[in-house]
Amino acid sequence: SGAMRQVEVGGAQPYRIAIGPGLLDDGATLAAVLRGRDAFIVSDGNVAPLYAARVIDALRSERPDLRVGQYVMAPGEEEKTLDNFARVIDALARAGMRRDATLFALGGGVVGDLSGFAAACWMRGIDCVQLPTTLLAMVDSSVGGKTAVDLPQGKNLVGAFHPPRAVLADTSTLRTLPPRELRAGLAEVVKYGAIGDAPFLDWIDAHAEALLAMDNDALAEAIARSCEHKAAIVERDPFEHGERALLNLGHTFGHALETEQGYGGLNHGEAVAVGMVLAARLSERLGLSHADDTTRLRTLLSRLELPVDLPAGLDPQAMLAHMRLDKKAQADGLRFIVWDGIGRAKVLPGVPEDAVLAV
Ligand code: ADP
Ligand code: ZN
Repeated sequence: SGAMRQVEVGGAQPYRIAIGPGLLDDGATLAAVLRGRDAFIVSDGNVAPLYAARVIDALRSERPDLRVGQYVMAPGEEEKTLDNFARVIDALARAGMRRDATLFALGGGVVGDLSGFAAACWMRGIDCVQLPTTLLAMVDSSVGGKTAVDLPQGKNLVGAFHPPRAVLADTSTLRTLPPRELRAGLAEVVKYGAIGDAPFLDWIDAHAEALLAMDNDALAEAIARSCEHKAAIVERDPFEHGERALLNLGHTFGHALETEQGYGGLNHGEAVAVGMVLAARLSERLGLSHADDTTRLRTLLSRLELPVDLPAGLDPQAMLAHMRLDKKAQADGLRFIVWDGIGRAKVLPGVPEDAVLAV
């Protein structure tokens, strides 16, 4: 279907998430977010050849006087580095982008996180419009204003809160997304149900086949409902002093897994799928939830063709060391997002390391 959906994110800097097919060709919508006559597109080597010219043409059709700059980075999570951040800044400087410039982040979470951070820093902050092209970016990373790059010591260790000017999710771009990347995004969709919306998890269960088959209506519904959840949470807790931490369900295990495996192992969504199952098992072990809840989550993730077990050969002590450096860890020991069962996630500080090692 060609229906367009909108989700509003409130707070000190409100913005709009638009979801639907054809947004990248919609010059009027793209141009409506411009403040001045400078636009700068950051994308990666997979996405730019497919979509960058279309965005530029659409913008120019509305604003023939637009000054457009562009930077295309190498694709992949391993490129979310300070080096590439510096290259984007250098390209912004060379293009003479002014304070009223708009940076368009065209790509997946890597492009969105890195170029969002560049937008946060260039001239102490210019507008960033997120144009997510992966399911993961549409349902999670493009919304909420967290921007960052990775360090060898861990993921997202350097960054800033910089809410986007707008998020325009063109769902037709998912047609070219590798199936494995689509499934990775579904892990974050499941996360919203697992955290606080048991009926949504039922809905995902009922539409698992449709989602895997990329049914338009099912995908649009999954994206919109996920964005509504994310919008509500970041509106209430933009800087993650409380409730927003729930969005990290599965991520303490997941990040440790990603960091320990290095690049070329599981991708982010896959690591989060495994991490959520481990969080469910940890909750069980701590006497908070039942085995039935863990089984339910495992089964759903498996149906979505996501991994649910730790890959063989990982060093548990090394993973624990990564968790100690996780931003969610605090002085009182390891802090995990656990649950009392499906749809009832909560933050639990002071989790004993032996319980973590046991799962
Ligand atoms: P994520 O959004 O999961 O954080 P990335 O930004 O690394 O991940 O994107 C995953 C991969 O998919 C990258 O190789 C990227 O270039 C590629 N990609 C992103 N969007 C599309 C798309 N719409 N079509 C084809 N490939 C895409
Ligand atoms: Zn995530």
